[in-house]
Amino acid sequence: MSQPFTCPHCGSHDYSIVLTGCDVAGATLQEDFAWDPERGEYSSGGTAILSSESVENEAGRAVCQECEKDVSEAVAAYEEQQGSGCA
Ligand SMILES: [Zn+2]
Repeated sequence: MSQPFTCPHCGSHDYSIVLTGCDVAGATLQEDFAWDPERGEYSSGGTAILSSESVENEAGRAVCQECEKDVSEAVAAYEEQQGSGCA
């Protein structure tokens, strides 16, 4: 059985991978806009890759969705653990 990733800061299992300066081939991107009546403008959550043929990236960063801290090292360790075989 696989275990979910757990944020070392807050214990959340949800995280996002932030890709910066990556080379994406054949990608489908989506950007959501939400109207913010207080600011009188649309706010965007940024562009999300829905699917892609390949993503070449060397500057990936993992961010916890709950506390928004950088969890890159924890995610890397988690993925390494998952890749080392299932018990
Ligand atoms: Zn967290």
